[in-house]
Amino acid sequence: MSTQEHTDQGGSGGTDALDLVIVGAGFGGLYAIHRARQLGLSVRAFEAGDDVGGTWYWNRYPGARCDVESVEYSYGFSEELQQEWVWSERYACQPELLRYAQHVAERFNLRHAITFGTRVRSAIYDDVAQRWRVSTSEGEEISARFLVLATGCLSATNVPDIPGLDTFAGRILHTGRWPREEIDFAGQRVGVVGTGSSAIQAIPLIAAAATELVVFQRTASYSVPARNRPLTAPELDRIKSDYAGFRARNRAMPGGFGADLGWNTASALDYTAEQRDALYEERWQRGGFAFLGSFGDTSVNKAANDLAADFIRRKIKSIVNDPAVAEALCPEQPVGCKRMALDSGYFETFNRDNVKLIDISKHPIDHVDSTGLWVNGQHFELDMLVLATGYDAMTGSYTGIDIRGRDGRALKEEWAGGPLTYLGLGVPNFPNLFIVAGPGSPSVLTNMVLAAEQHVDWIVECIDYMNTHGLATIEATAEAAHEWVEHVNGIAALTLYPTCNSWYLGANIPGKARVFMPLLGFPDYEVRCSEVAAAGYAGFEVG
Ligand code: FAD
Ligand code: NAP
Repeated sequence: MSTQEHTDQGGSGGTDALDLVIVGAGFGGLYAIHRARQLGLSVRAFEAGDDVGGTWYWNRYPGARCDVESVEYSYGFSEELQQEWVWSERYACQPELLRYAQHVAERFNLRHAITFGTRVRSAIYDDVAQRWRVSTSEGEEISARFLVLATGCLSATNVPDIPGLDTFAGRILHTGRWPREEIDFAGQRVGVVGTGSSAIQAIPLIAAAATELVVFQRTASYSVPARNRPLTAPELDRIKSDYAGFRARNRAMPGGFGADLGWNTASALDYTAEQRDALYEERWQRGGFAFLGSFGDTSVNKAANDLAADFIRRKIKSIVNDPAVAEALCPEQPVGCKRMALDSGYFETFNRDNVKLIDISKHPIDHVDSTGLWVNGQHFELDMLVLATGYDAMTGSYTGIDIRGRDGRALKEEWAGGPLTYLGLGVPNFPNLFIVAGPGSPSVLTNMVLAAEQHVDWIVECIDYMNTHGLATIEATAEAAHEWVEHVNGIAALTLYPTCNSWYLGANIPGKARVFMPLLGFPDYEVRCSEVAAAGYAGFEVG
């Protein structure tokens, strides 16, 4: 536990007077501390890691970087901050993103409020005192009126239950819990399990350093080139000459980003094959998520989606020399239904002599022994194993805490059939609990820094409203929450998103309820949140 541990100076002293406990010090938690203090609320935050940064503290694997462009994937709340910070690349790498989070923490004096190296183990609502009683891994017990969960949608790692994993004599690394020290792959035979975004970023760099790399692929992924590059001074000057306008344009986009990517609203089916290919090709060359904006119906019309899928498969086949390997790398699910990856030389990596692709879609990893993995009777000798196996996404960081609301109800049990939230912000039977950018909100389908800012602003304004109106508690009604979950799934059902086994649906975790968790469409959502607040928090019981 760090020594920087005491009640925030802006607060009113002893822990019984605490207004707010915030769990997590990633981008969401940091901004929550800042905004709460601006309102004069006393606040303490707990962070399991030893520093700020969240995702960018934990994900130190080679090649980790953002896939929303740096100039957008950053806070917009401070004009001085956005003017002064200079992003070096189109997609900032993990060390730069971590430096940014550290800079924000120092610039806005946020570290005072954070207790590092401390996990919140339980949070029990005391109905009589109308306070949350919070216990930590370090044995501390404190209480606060409000509990804000900024624990992240992609922070509870998924370690697959592969028999014998603990008998492996070599080192096992998870991309989302990467150690601080440099990992030397030289002379090593490395296995990577998983081919999602994390693996796709790490594989080219591991392959270049290791003696041998074996990639175990259960589902092939779509990926387009990131075409990362240094940002030039004129580009940055252009954005900074009207950063507020740039942010506003992005905020009006369905995903809260990409206003300058040029989203074609026309149907792919209205173009000739040559015209379509020219358009796809231009976006493929530009790199990044521009590809998804090639046509307006890629994510809603299967026939249009098939055309985009076909283009990417042809690209894979043109890049990868071995036709059998190329075929195995071609995904079958609709484009975008699992999050598309951006890469720097991913498919090219499979042309290296030291890289092998093992398709485990039909024969899963049978077991691990001290020297490697067994698949379909074949043994793969390995010195190191990298689990790029993702997360118990969107719910795992919340259900990992023993959270009990009214009448001792456990959040984990309440959510056994899928997360039940109203606006993604409140949970019935859990008064004065708020979630930042969690299930039921646009969250992972947006620029998540923007999503966190929007949520935190809403939450602190709500608390301010309660204080100025002398109100003690706010709680989502069950009716509003059930309607909301239906609304979220109803919107998703109009698209191709729910048509494959994605983590958006919880399908990556055995036994997890299959419910579409993030909400599509940031701008409508933002309007809805404002309307709810303006109507005196309609759908919440306030008292
Ligand atoms: P996090 O950054 O996950 O922070 C949550 C923090 O809470 C963690 O530090 C964790 O240790 C702490 N915590 C959790 N439980 C507890 C507990 N019980 N007690 C104490 N502390 C706890 N999104 C984008 O929009 N664009 C991108 O380009 C992008 N790239 C990504 C790349 C990777 C590799 C990953 C994994 C995710 C990426 N994301 C991206 C999503 C990313 O998670 C969000 O952008 C954002 O960083 C989330 O911030 P957060 O504060 O909500 O959560
Ligand atoms: P992920 O997308 O969930 O990928 C996990 C991979 O592991 C998948 O290929 C999955 O296969 C495989 N896997 C899981 N369990 C397995 C098992 N038991 N046996 C074999 N394979 C198994 O996780 P991620 O790559 O960490 O990415 C998660 C999210 O974080 C991304 O979607 C994105 O939102 C974000 N992210 C962003 C970036 C970026 O570019 N900025 C980078 C990394 C992560 P299946 O597909 O078959 O389940």
